[in-house]
Amino acid sequence: MAEILSGKTVAQAAVNDVKARVDALLAKGVQPKLAIMRFGAEPDHVFYEKGAKRTCAQVGVACEVTELPADISEAEAINTLKRLNEDPSVHGILVLQPAPKQISAAALRYAIDPRKDIDGMSPINEAKVFEGDPTGFPPCTPTAVMEILRHYNIPLKGKKVVVVGRSMVVGKPAAMLLLGEHATVTICHSRTQDLPGEARQGDILVAAIGRAKMITRDYVKPGAIVIDVGINVDENGKMCGDVEFEGACEVASMITPVPGGVGSVTTIVLAKHVARAAEMA
Ligand code: NAP
Repeated sequence: MAEILSGKTVAQAAVNDVKARVDALLAKGVQPKLAIMRFGAEPDHVFYEKGAKRTCAQVGVACEVTELPADISEAEAINTLKRLNEDPSVHGILVLQPAPKQISAAALRYAIDPRKDIDGMSPINEAKVFEGDPTGFPPCTPTAVMEILRHYNIPLKGKKVVVVGRSMVVGKPAAMLLLGEHATVTICHSRTQDLPGEARQGDILVAAIGRAKMITRDYVKPGAIVIDVGINVDENGKMCGDVEFEGACEVASMITPVPGGVGSVTTIVLAKHVARAAEMA
């Protein structure tokens, strides 16, 4: 049976580290602050916001939510974002996505100040992730994947890593961060031929697909480490990952659960990024 890689354990360990950094800032008279921009009251967004607020409170990061009407115009939304860009008391900005359809994602990405873009959506931060420039902010989810691998001392240098998923928020940045640690990375997607065969090449398999329990034991190399980024709802209405957990557990050497895996680490990464943005400011 595979060893469980607990995201909660990783998050707990990171709390002390982030709190120490926040305390050092407070001692210098700097109160690190996160501004969350939320459109309407999408349950997923409200849920994530609650988690972010809870984690920020744990480490001493101030958190302020700007709630905007779901039918706000793009121009008004961008003006709000620019006000937060210019507010010296705000160090990090999180725009809960997806935004309503009248607001283009590109307009938001280009408007956010890259120095406050703690969830890595600005093209500047994307470029920095691809360049391996450590002054950039990668999105929190792939960073959480890296935090888990680091916490459990999983070697990456020279390892074959297969990432399934090529989105700009998870798959591609995860692949770049892994590459930066000298892994040999394969990125798979919906047009990949023989996906199970490709996935079985991975000493480490990262699933970021958005398809409940799609990755069965047949995709897992015996002894591989499986990182499940997926957040889905199964046929019984229960939260599940992209990996069929029980089957994969019998083949893998280590695996992250859902819930309690990658998702448990993202908000502490967010708080850590706010602390770093405040240090840089
Ligand atoms: P996304 O933008 O929909 O991208 C999904 C990727 O999976 C795409 O690259 C797609 O390929 C690929 N894909 C879809 N069906 C496939 C198939 N049958 N075979 C192979 N590849 C397939 O999703 P995302 O935003 O990256 O999110 C991925 C998952 O992570 C979702 O479950 C999401 O809820 C979860 N997530 C979790 C967290 C967290 O904190 N744990 C945060 C963000 C997202 P194409 O490019 O070819 O279409």
